[in-house]
Amino acid sequence: MSGITLALSKGRIFEETLPLLAAAGIVPADDPARSRKLVIGSNRPDVRLIIVRATDTPTYVQHGAAELGVAGKDVLLEHGGAGLYQPLDLNIARCRLCVAVKRGFDYAAAAQPGGRIRVATKYIESAKTHFAGKGMHVDLIKLYGSMELAPLVGLADAIVDLVSSGGTLRANGLEEVEEIVPISSRLIVNQAALKLKRELVQPLLDAFANAVHI
Ligand code: ATP
Ligand code: MG
Repeated sequence: MSGITLALSKGRIFEETLPLLAAAGIVPADDPARSRKLVIGSNRPDVRLIIVRATDTPTYVQHGAAELGVAGKDVLLEHGGAGLYQPLDLNIARCRLCVAVKRGFDYAAAAQPGGRIRVATKYIESAKTHFAGKGMHVDLIKLYGSMELAPLVGLADAIVDLVSSGGTLRANGLEEVEEIVPISSRLIVNQAALKLKRELVQPLLDAFANAVHI
């Protein structure tokens, strides 16, 4: 396409990106919460949105199927960031990636160099790096959601998951024992598009940068 395609996931990233789009003069023609359309036009004939799964956003942008995208740092850490520029922290969808255990589990005792624990997570790369940095051995168990369940049924000693209020952990008798990294969403840009479509991409980057609240 000759214009610009922006990849977004529905839910909090779409909702929290709307004001930034508005500041850049872009108004989506549909609401993905109500429409089933995956390609959404805008008030600008040269700008369209595509609605993708949050974990897929970097993949679409890396391969140039979208010039721009908005992705959580959690997702970018797992993806690795190949082929992407990450010029701007949008400071939206803020939370933190952390380690949580069943209340009463002695994490301090387990978290010694040479210690071994079973960890359930969908964040395999981040978990691997974190526990390796502490000199711990981990048996990682890949899950795709509802990580809080794993320690309750003996699948794992700990989970690595996103937390914002901590309400879901509390409701399931878990407690946060370690923060790994603070998370927010980033604007991501296809590296080739930044060079080849600079006249279209750069004004959007500037408008987003001016609209971000720090
Ligand atoms: P699903 O929950 O349907 O499996 P998902 O987890 O891929 O989908 P979201 O829950 O919408 O999608 O999360 C999208 C992004 O929003 C995450 O990658 C993360 O960066 C951020 N996020 C996730 N949970 C929270 C939260 N509780 N508070 C703030 N931001 C969050
Ligand atoms: Mg989720």
